[in-house]
Amino acid sequence: MNSTWYDDTVYSEFKGKRELKNNCTCDVLIVGGGLAGLSLLYNLKKNNVDAVLIEEKQIGSGASGRNGGFCLSGWAQDYEVLMKCLSKEEVVKLEQIAATGVQWMKKKCMSKGYEHANLQPGVIKCFLSNNVEKVERDIFTQNQLFSQNEEFINKGKLNKYVCSDKYSCGVLRKDSFQFHPLNFMKALAQDCITLGASIFENCKFVNYQRNSGKIHASIVHNNRVFNMQSEKIVFATGGYGGKEINELKNYWLPIKTFIGVTKPMGDELQSVLKKPLGFSDNRRAGNYYRVLPGNRLSWGRGISAVANYSRSSLKKVISKEISYFFPELKNIEIDYVWSGNMAYASHYMPYVGATRIGHEDKNVFTIMGFGGHGMNTAPGAAMVLADFMLGKGNNYQVFNKFSRKWNGGLIGPYIAELKYKYLQMKDYFDFA
Ligand SMILES: Cc1cc2nc3c(=O)[nH]c(=O)nc-3n(C[C@H](O)[C@H](O)[C@H](O)COP(=O)(O)OP(=O)(O)OC[C@H]3O[C@@H](n4cnc5c(N)ncnc54)[C@H](O)[C@@H]3O)c2cc1C
Repeated sequence: MNSTWYDDTVYSEFKGKRELKNNCTCDVLIVGGGLAGLSLLYNLKKNNVDAVLIEEKQIGSGASGRNGGFCLSGWAQDYEVLMKCLSKEEVVKLEQIAATGVQWMKKKCMSKGYEHANLQPGVIKCFLSNNVEKVERDIFTQNQLFSQNEEFINKGKLNKYVCSDKYSCGVLRKDSFQFHPLNFMKALAQDCITLGASIFENCKFVNYQRNSGKIHASIVHNNRVFNMQSEKIVFATGGYGGKEINELKNYWLPIKTFIGVTKPMGDELQSVLKKPLGFSDNRRAGNYYRVLPGNRLSWGRGISAVANYSRSSLKKVISKEISYFFPELKNIEIDYVWSGNMAYASHYMPYVGATRIGHEDKNVFTIMGFGGHGMNTAPGAAMVLADFMLGKGNNYQVFNKFSRKWNGGLIGPYIAELKYKYLQMKDYFDFA
């Protein structure tokens, strides 16, 4: 289940890859070539920091190059929950970090070299809810509180964008957009190389030791172990890190989510998705879908801590879901299906900042745990972490509010699965 539509439409590999040599040195070693690690690398290189990134596979081969391609404001955790556990100022600060992430991504997508990221503006969140007044009220409050640019859309107007009798209203998220995430990642890697960064692919971090105040990392490349020495190390391994990240592994869970892409369609697609926007719904693990070039429908669905679908069963589940919302599309065929891992802490917020792995160490950092909402939050968090590492600010401290939470060990995935099933059941009764 590994080949994605993005892999088959990737525009170009970035140039300038380097071969790892033994005993390289740098100031900052970043582990993980997803959006978190790469945007941190970009921000550090912009400030002339001698930073190096290593990636176990290829740039964007984790969640960052295989996701739904939606860039939206906000966090994986709902703002209403954040409001209950943080002060209003703290929530506003977090929302600003998330909004800065959206703006940064949009600006990048619109710059030279990112043409194949193929930005398409506008995402609509569709509501399966009878409490339309509450949706309208909430949007008004959020726009005021966070200076957002979201528009409530009643059912009549929503039908001009998307035709499904399951939705009661929608919210047009004007600042949000969709894009080709893998092409974006390749373009960003090229940008980093232009700034003089070193990126090493097929290099797996395996462990590190401290010696005379320096970090000595062991890295496996082409079945050989290489040593790299740095002042600081940052773990940006998303939902793909394993035992090598030691204690940190106990504080998040890899949660899977799934995407299917249909075969090219005819006019029937435009008869239900009338405008080329991205669409999502308001359930906790709802659907997110959009039209891809070539008139294909990309359909994102579900989360699971334990499920492992076969290709054919995932195709069936996705077809069934599409025809539930759009009976007109009941005969469509699915061409691609794939899954990806996201790192989730039980509070749904990321771990960003100085960390502790085994022993207290201020030169060891993490930037991970963005869950299903990383395309704005990862670069937003990378900017504040870079500022902190450069001695330019301590906005990152707002993340200290989310303390480490044990993931439940061996039974953690089953607890998470039960929680998800409960939310699914709640969604069913709330919206049936
Ligand atoms: C199917 C799917 C759909 C999604 N849709 C959306 C969406 O539409 N919008 C949105 O905002 N978010 C979405 N997300 C979530 C988003 O993709 C993630 O939050 C984000 O990509 C996380 O970025 P990251 O850099 O933390 O992790 P990743 O992109 O997973 O990167 C981590 C990298 O670390 C590398 N690595 C791990 N261990 C090592 C090691 N030991 N040595 C070297 N390298 C290592 C991995 O190979 C990987 O490339 C989706 C996720 C998935 C899986």
